[in-house]
Amino acid sequence: MNLNRDFGDDIISGEAGIIKDSLKKDAKQYIFGIDMHEIPEVEGDLVDGKYYGSLPKSFFMWENCKDKGLRIGKKALETLKGKGIPVCSYKEILGEPNNNGVIWYPEGLKNEMYLASATFDAYLSKHYCKHVVTSETPVIWMLDTRIEAHLTVLRTALEEKKKGK
Ligand SMILES: [Zn+2]
Repeated sequence: MNLNRDFGDDIISGEAGIIKDSLKKDAKQYIFGIDMHEIPEVEGDLVDGKYYGSLPKSFFMWENCKDKGLRIGKKALETLKGKGIPVCSYKEILGEPNNNGVIWYPEGLKNEMYLASATFDAYLSKHYCKHVVTSETPVIWMLDTRIEAHLTVLRTALEEKKKGK
């Protein structure tokens, strides 16, 4: 099963339940959340039972943050490009509008699968955190490059938060 579709009201997995309980136990608002993902190596690219053509073969990210002034996507992508890490330029990714490597929520929310959202980032942003990012790297890349890409996004966010953003 896909744990990242199990954060709706009816939890099936023990794992999502444990995470939800631990967030509830000492409930607070966090200033930032990040979920680091890998893009699977599949051609045909059937995701949640729907065909999406080609999945990205380079970095992209989701940024869920209503306040545009707080967003870090643009800055993170510039830094990644500066390091020579390829960023996905598809017009759409999984049915969502891609802005040179970042899908912004709430305005990007076009895909019904995410509208009915039970993903971890949607759950976090609904209840505990107003700024949540999911970074995505292709699993076919060298591990060092994948780690560097995710850490670059995390570092960018921390630097911006330190500035009081
Ligand atoms: Zn993902």
